[in-house]
Amino acid sequence: MVQGFGIRTLTAIGLVAVAAIAVFLLGHDVQATLVTLIGGVAAVLTAAGTSEIAVDPDQPPASTDAPPLDLGDVLEAIVEPILIVTEGRVTQANAPARALLGGHILGQNVRLAIRHPAAAERLVGPIAPGTAEPIDLVGLGTLDQRWQMRVALGAGGQRIVHLIDQTGNYAAERMRVDFVANASHELRTPLASILGYIETLSDEAGEDAALRGRFLKIMDDEARRMQRLVEDLISLSRIEAEKYRLPDRAVDLADLVGEVRAEIVKGRIVLDLGDGVSAVTGDRVQLSQMLHNLVGNAIKYGRADAPVTVRLWQDAGMVRLSVADQGDGIPSEHIPRLTERFYRVDPGRSRAGGGTGLGLAIVKHIVERHRGRLDIASVVGTGTTVSIVLPAHGVKG
Ligand code: ADP
Repeated sequence: MVQGFGIRTLTAIGLVAVAAIAVFLLGHDVQATLVTLIGGVAAVLTAAGTSEIAVDPDQPPASTDAPPLDLGDVLEAIVEPILIVTEGRVTQANAPARALLGGHILGQNVRLAIRHPAAAERLVGPIAPGTAEPIDLVGLGTLDQRWQMRVALGAGGQRIVHLIDQTGNYAAERMRVDFVANASHELRTPLASILGYIETLSDEAGEDAALRGRFLKIMDDEARRMQRLVEDLISLSRIEAEKYRLPDRAVDLADLVGEVRAEIVKGRIVLDLGDGVSAVTGDRVQLSQMLHNLVGNAIKYGRADAPVTVRLWQDAGMVRLSVADQGDGIPSEHIPRLTERFYRVDPGRSRAGGGTGLGLAIVKHIVERHRGRLDIASVVGTGTTVSIVLPAHGVKG
């Protein structure tokens, strides 16, 4: 009720009430008080009815003459494919639906527009209560696309068909499942080997000192393989957990490259460090791990008698780093997949060199966290160059 009155009306009613109280206090005359109160309020309400309510800012604006929204406009404003099906025919389809199923679907029998047995049943048959669950459609659009179809019933019996793209979710879920399967497999193989040797040693082979020494060496290698794998898995999950936390320290990559060189086989690493290269904004431990992985790969897969060149230079506001080897190189079809977890061009060679198949996946995640870019270029028979670009922190003095 109060919402219907403006502030001025309420103030006036308040003043009338004050006047009525004053009349009562002065004369203790109830009748005069009531006349003041009722008369005053009536006068205020009459005045408000003729002038104030029409301009009351508390009121919603008067309705305009705008025409009601057109359904077609509403459908076109939606970015996911939407179709309206009336008596088995497609009567409306927004642009994303036409792009997915073809412009010809308008007016077409919906069974031809969406060729899918489970979908067709839901689109033309009676909808039983409780069958509103979505239907998963495979192969609509391109073969690897996955869609979820939801159907709602319009007042006139029309079917409102909403297609939701699930391709990204499906790919992420498949990657997660593959990752768990691959990690388990990678751990199970050395573990099975260790258990086998323990059994052999506890039987007759334990008596033979030479054999025991050989088996223990194999067990040690396998245990270290498991350890490297577990360490890389932990690194990967730590880096992923910090994905959205930007690093904030100034890190001098030239210093870090020097440190990494000192820790690895020095002789083969040639440094080509530009002058006055800015620091980058980074996480020192992660950038060191990135360099270790790249230089480690270049040494592992490069020709044993050839140098590995690490270059560092500045290009405007970006710091660039490249690690180049002279090795067998990588056939181009493998390059887009090298940063996938456990992807190896030659699994035997990778394992023989102590590889976990996670090195470049870790590098990719570190570079992403640093808002940088990673590029792998390779020429078969010549060698591979991995380049990193990171935003500069500030120019060196
Ligand atoms: P790994 O532990 O197997 O070395 P990475 O993730 O570091 O795993 O690399 C993935 C794969 O990419 C390697 O198995 C190898 O086949 C290939 N690769 C990486 N770096 C090089 C390189 N410098 N030269 C040739 N192949 C490389």
